[in-house]
Amino acid sequence: MKDLESEDVQEFIDMLMGGDLPDGWELSHQPKLSLEEAFGVVYYLQEEMHLIPERFELCCVCDRIYDTDCQGHTIDATDNMDEWHRELGLEEQDLTDHDGQRFCSEECEIKFWRDKKRSASDKSEQAE
Ligand SMILES: [Zn+2]
Repeated sequence: MKDLESEDVQEFIDMLMGGDLPDGWELSHQPKLSLEEAFGVVYYLQEEMHLIPERFELCCVCDRIYDTDCQGHTIDATDNMDEWHRELGLEEQDLTDHDGQRFCSEECEIKFWRDKKRSASDKSEQAE
């Protein structure tokens, strides 16, 4: 069996979502799942069937599959509070609220926190 790369898993997700198929492929009943449903299939193949290595995860910001062996970051509220997060203006509670969130890159994580802060300040402005 060939070693899977994150691109392979991404291609599988794209197939499940009704996207373009690799050259030479045609499926008369290609699925058209949502991203969540497609990742549900991958997750089952990982956890139950052990056909896809568990190290492949979905980034919650860019919705792409990445290989946790080579990149990415998962929020772990118990020990992630560090200088880097503090400089982003975060507090322990922010990490606790988003424990387990996964990002493929620093850029995606920064974008995630920016969007959170923005929607939080939008809400407080509406309340005034
Ligand atoms: Zn990402």
